[in-house]
Amino acid sequence: MNRRNFLHTAGMSSLAVAAGVSSCAPRMGSTATLAMHHVPKLKLSLDRIVKETVGLRPFRASGPRIAKEALGSKTIVHNYGHGGSGWSLSWGTGNLARELVLTTGEKKVAVLGSGTVGLATARLLQEKGCEVTIYTKDLPPNVTSNLATGTWSPASRVCDPKVATQVFHDQWEAATRFSFRRFQFMLGMDDIVSWVDEYGVSNEPFRPQTDPSMGGEVYHLPGLIPERKELTPKEHSFGAKYVSWRSSMMFNIPSYLHHQLSTFIMLGGKLKVHEIKKLEDIDALPELCIVNCMGLGAKEIFNDQELTPISGQLACLIPQREVTYKLNARGANIISRKDGIYLGGNGIVGNWDTTPKREVTEKFVDTIQQVMNEMKG
Ligand SMILES: Cc1cc2nc3c(=O)[nH]c(=O)nc-3n(C[C@H](O)[C@H](O)[C@H](O)COP(=O)(O)OP(=O)(O)OC[C@H]3O[C@@H](n4cnc5c(N)ncnc54)[C@H](O)[C@@H]3O)c2cc1C
Repeated sequence: MNRRNFLHTAGMSSLAVAAGVSSCAPRMGSTATLAMHHVPKLKLSLDRIVKETVGLRPFRASGPRIAKEALGSKTIVHNYGHGGSGWSLSWGTGNLARELVLTTGEKKVAVLGSGTVGLATARLLQEKGCEVTIYTKDLPPNVTSNLATGTWSPASRVCDPKVATQVFHDQWEAATRFSFRRFQFMLGMDDIVSWVDEYGVSNEPFRPQTDPSMGGEVYHLPGLIPERKELTPKEHSFGAKYVSWRSSMMFNIPSYLHHQLSTFIMLGGKLKVHEIKKLEDIDALPELCIVNCMGLGAKEIFNDQELTPISGQLACLIPQREVTYKLNARGANIISRKDGIYLGGNGIVGNWDTTPKREVTEKFVDTIQQVMNEMKG
């Protein structure tokens, strides 16, 4: 797809999002006749919050850096800067990075980083017969990837469309399609990846999302996940004027990371806790081909001025067995994972502070509580 067609497709199909709602720009299909949706109420109170975290999305205005460069006798393949889309794009950009690695003919490959991007890239290299060693400062759970919501959101805070080039567009589309296919083969494996009902709830008509830093899906590839449908008041129990529904994918992050790490080791991969402090440390590695999946950690080592954090706070509620859906409402969202029900929705560009703020959690709780209070029944 060329740039013009891409933008046209993206623009035409980009309908609507309630202001500030992360990753939830609805694209409405025709109103369908559906059975009543059963949406159990959440038990919301501050004393049910067991964990609050702030993660830093590694954002680059021009999009993730997927490129090859020479460093003395070594080849570096970059694969970092995925913004709010790293889980969703991990297999796809891993595949693009793998293609670059294979052009070198090297079979012993180093991967820097053990977040979702490094692990997917390492696994894909193993599948082509490479001997892979991961060098990483920290292991899961102490990685940014462990502080994500876990939704299929390949276009969330992934670039600034004003500066993104044709190269980004082509890579993004190829990566999105590859990842989507890969996730279908992970369904049914202990719910690492699963399909969920996702609702959008608003008192304002859904309107086009224009600000990518707000997390909206400016880009969209029709034909992957089903389009959103507007529900009539008879089809749902929400009190809001506008309600949308679609099926979407989600990732159970702790078990997914565990699965990736253990499969990597099972297939003969080596893992070394090793911090890269300067370029010379990379030069000193025994491998001649190195894949850089250090996320925000790449900023200092490769002097990438474009790479900047977009912080996001999450609050985790005790799980409720009957709650299995995802909800976006008025700037907040909830997603029900196996390990808890996560509330989130904010993004602060350029913020390096990872201290959770109680008032942010209180705002998430108040917003979702209001939605619950307005529900019928
Ligand atoms: C609040 C929040 C919600 C999100 N929700 C979603 C979502 O729903 N869906 C989605 O697709 N994405 C989501 N994301 C985005 C996603 O989490 C990131 O894009 C992704 O985690 C980036 O993965 P990564 O492997 O590149 O980086 P990381 O997880 O940060 O991994 C980097 C690795 O590199 C290592 N490293 C760093 N520096 C060095 C060094 N100097 N030497 C050696 N090793 C080093 C680290 O130890 C780590 O192992 C969210 C992010 C946040 C913060």
